[in-house]
Amino acid sequence: MTALKDILLDQIAAGGPLRVSDYMSACLLHPVHGYYTTRAPFGRAGDFVTAPEISQMFGELIGLALAQAWLDQGAPAPFTLAELGPGRGTLMADVLRATARVPGFNAAAHITLVEASPNLREQQAQTLAPHTVRFADDVGALDEAPLFLVANEFFDALPIRQFQRDGDGWRERQIGARDGALAFGLGPAQAQPALAQRIEDTRDGDLIEHCPALAPTVETIAARIARHGGAALLIDYGDWHTLGDTLQAVADHAPVDPLASPGAADLTAHVDFEALFASAAACRRSRITPQGVFLERLGITARAQALAQSLGGEALETHIAAHRRLTHPEEMGNLFKVLGVVPESAPMLPGLET
Ligand code: SAH
Repeated sequence: MTALKDILLDQIAAGGPLRVSDYMSACLLHPVHGYYTTRAPFGRAGDFVTAPEISQMFGELIGLALAQAWLDQGAPAPFTLAELGPGRGTLMADVLRATARVPGFNAAAHITLVEASPNLREQQAQTLAPHTVRFADDVGALDEAPLFLVANEFFDALPIRQFQRDGDGWRERQIGARDGALAFGLGPAQAQPALAQRIEDTRDGDLIEHCPALAPTVETIAARIARHGGAALLIDYGDWHTLGDTLQAVADHAPVDPLASPGAADLTAHVDFEALFASAAACRRSRITPQGVFLERLGITARAQALAQSLGGEALETHIAAHRRLTHPEEMGNLFKVLGVVPESAPMLPGLET
């Protein structure tokens, strides 16, 4: 029993069942008991491993892709170099090391990190020293300036609501209490105008997911890029459309019951790339591209061979495994997808096609 579980059971007793999104928010970002507020979840010793923690190659290639887009657009200065949900700060550190060789890029970059967890903000500032970084609570606080942005495994942490189709209406999946434990249930059938387009492609009983913060976040990024220039690389796991329950909890590298220990496990859901794509309509958008294809086109194999020259023994084995893990279709190569966003008048980012 976690302290957060007691708090949530009290809340349910007083105010009725919670939306899945309220539950996710509390689990991830509760100021005292939230997962990202209290833990250091990343890496081998943590609960899960993300692409930048697997190999420096990931951030390096992303840095060079953003720098190429910056050069393609006439090297605007100054500009905002932003990351959403930077975790330990590893990805941005690898970006900056790679872009240090691009004349003028790092000097013109105002680094802005959108991060909710005070604990992780501290870690990110440490990882990125001596660079000066600014923090923002959300994308609305980003400067009105050219914006070059990356988000890796950020959207999968944004709270989702879940709805089960019932005739022409929807019953919201809720979290209530049963015998002193948290339990899933369904609310009453209601019309949901925001889900109107999903009536065509679903059947009675189907479950779909809707992430309320996704559209406003992507619309804000796309508006900045359309107005001032820039580029965004949005990388996450998921696919075109959502169908079915993808809420997933992970602790110590293994799936666990999402209701069992709120605040003690990571909670994510697949990202709906159709919604990402639609929300960036103010800009030129790439095809949704598998991560493995994107990294291969950016030259990850040549970079891996160059790094391998100075490695031997176990370090070389780890390096070879990391390359495979990032790119192979049966590992992260296919499950993770990339959406690139640039102004209508600009060339697409390298590694992506329109
Ligand atoms: N991008 C990193 C970490 C991914 S984990 C990596 O690839 O390793 C998700 C990150 O998003 C964490 O840093 C978490 O604290 C942050 N985060 C989650 N929800 C957020 C929100 N609503 N606003 C800002 N940051 C958030």
